[in-house]
Amino acid sequence: MTGTRGAAALLLAATGLLPASGGGNGSPLGRCGADSIRVPILVYHNVAPHRMGETRTQTTADVRPETFEAQMAYLRDHGIAVVSLQQLVEALEGRAAMQEPAVVITFDDGWEDQYRHALPILRRFRYTATFFIITDAVGKDDYMTWDQVRELRNTGMTIGSHSRTHRALTNIHDGRLLDDEVAGSRRVLESELQAPIAFFAYPFGAQTPRVVAAVRDAGYRAARGFPGGVWNRAADIWTLRSVGVADDLPRFARMCAPRAGSAARRPPDVGEHPLVRLAVDLAPRVALLQDGFRTPSSRGPGPEPRQNADYQDHERH
Ligand SMILES: [Zn+2]
Repeated sequence: MTGTRGAAALLLAATGLLPASGGGNGSPLGRCGADSIRVPILVYHNVAPHRMGETRTQTTADVRPETFEAQMAYLRDHGIAVVSLQQLVEALEGRAAMQEPAVVITFDDGWEDQYRHALPILRRFRYTATFFIITDAVGKDDYMTWDQVRELRNTGMTIGSHSRTHRALTNIHDGRLLDDEVAGSRRVLESELQAPIAFFAYPFGAQTPRVVAAVRDAGYRAARGFPGGVWNRAADIWTLRSVGVADDLPRFARMCAPRAGSAARRPPDVGEHPLVRLAVDLAPRVALLQDGFRTPSSRGPGPEPRQNADYQDHERH
């Protein structure tokens, strides 16, 4: 158990939810090429009140609605624009100008609490966001229904794919299965929403050149990795770096403000970062959505912590 707890802490460090050790006072601009843009892609998971029985991971990674609202107010009050993922991609490609400071807001997994708690706040602030949906999970316990996903889209949100089952795609060696996760999920979304789907987010941020090629071949426009930091450049279109948001306003402020200390350091490429490698290696050991989804009948009598796919605690296998 100690080992898995340690691994979970490392995973958190890799995802940027724990403070990084070491310095970070160098000039961020000095570390980045001329084509780099510092528009953090923020990644949210559950947006819900904390409750009894949460793991430490959930306590850190789940964002309370009031914190989410305070974070949105911070952006407004500090003149930080919220731009769409498409706007960022076009700017990275040099086809559009990008105002800075700015952020992109994304939500992973399609949790129902995102619809219930985050959407009303986003609408009040008139902010747009991208929701990455696990298509096989739609309508299952704790996940949004198709009607809710459609409502997101109808209120100006962007819908992207987060695969069919949220497996680490790097562990799928059968080409047809990989295609089903990547292209199949896109087909499902396009059928349900009657609209083109442009963006993909890798489960766990796990990607290799083979997985990236599958995403390109499936007809997407760009893809988001996880994590990697706040900088992106044109070459990152298929592995966009991002940052996980924690239930922590000061940390959020440091991340979103331009030239913000350690958060502004550009880390090594995501796929090469040793801690990210560890996260990918751990992924298949985590009992995720691979054998179907939880149903209400699987719940115990007491309060059960939400299972957050990207931050699944490793105490539970
Ligand atoms: Zn996920």
